[in-house]
Amino acid sequence: KAKMDGRDRYVFFTPDLDEIVRHRDSTNRELRQALASCDEQLRVHYQPICCAQTGEITGVEALLRWQHPIHGLMSPAGFIQAAEECGLIEVLGNWVLRKALADAREWPGLRLAVNVSPIQVRNRAFPDVIGEMLAASGWDPTRLELEITETALMTRSQDVAETLARLRELGVSCALDDFGTGYSSLSHIRDIAVDRIKIDRSFVNAVESRPGAALVEAIANLARANGLLLTAEGVETQAQFEFLRAAGCHEMQGYLLSRPVPAHAITRMLESADTRRLIAIAA
Ligand code: C2E
Ligand code: MG
Ligand code: MG
Ligand code: MG
Repeated sequence: KAKMDGRDRYVFFTPDLDEIVRHRDSTNRELRQALASCDEQLRVHYQPICCAQTGEITGVEALLRWQHPIHGLMSPAGFIQAAEECGLIEVLGNWVLRKALADAREWPGLRLAVNVSPIQVRNRAFPDVIGEMLAASGWDPTRLELEITETALMTRSQDVAETLARLRELGVSCALDDFGTGYSSLSHIRDIAVDRIKIDRSFVNAVESRPGAALVEAIANLARANGLLLTAEGVETQAQFEFLRAAGCHEMQGYLLSRPVPAHAITRMLESADTRRLIAIAA
């Protein structure tokens, strides 16, 4: 038996697990170094989100990147969990929020969506942290949206519900990310202060099949019945876009419209009416 991270968790070591742990430890060490000098290795890219009716850009989602000295530009899919496990996620998450709020000052009128970890949301001080950041930067709170996954609602859901209610009081909105892939019960939608559902890419991918189309329509009906906004993520084809628009999605996000790009590319996109429109909508 070996004690991990100084916490009360014991694991049985097999050679395989040993290797995983070693890899994780080196990731943690490197992540700690990256965080010590955030601006050198960490980046935030932004993926535009557009109105389903006009094709115009309405907001951006901040997506963290790690410019690793050896592995190159890394997706957060490969290191967010490590950051959560070694207690770095709050520092990392706050850095992303500050950076995104600063970058987004250049984009008046756009909504800024930022992903937050369940660990951040479970901290009762989180709404105060957000409130201070907004006050310090003079930001309009209604332009900020936090994206949480259903997993965040699974444990300590009472605390999470309270946190979301306090964020709503501040004027900050909340989206349920990767909707349909977690283990939440549908009743959360009724009980929790969410404003928007983001249909996961896996459903969007499947709309061209009959069962896939029926699932998306069911989610759209659920959103409508609960007065929630609906965004589709991972939209890659014109056919998917048309279907999702007809089904009642309000906003679209995906490679069809734009990949995540550095901040300066968003600024340039906003310069002309032509580039503000991410897709031409057929009448
Ligand atoms: P997410 O919030 O669901 O973000 C959408 C992911 O799908 C992004 O991956 C984006 O690049 C990718 N994507 C967007 N459109 C398409 C498409 O049309 N096709 C395909 N194949 N992919 C598309 P990314 O940037 O690798 O981020 C992965 C996940 O990492 C995010 O999923 C989010 O859960 C998490 N994440 C990103 N940034 C942060 C952060 O600052 N904090 C936390 N806690 N999590 C973050
Ligand atoms: Mg997201
Ligand atoms: Mg998502
Ligand atoms: Mg995701």
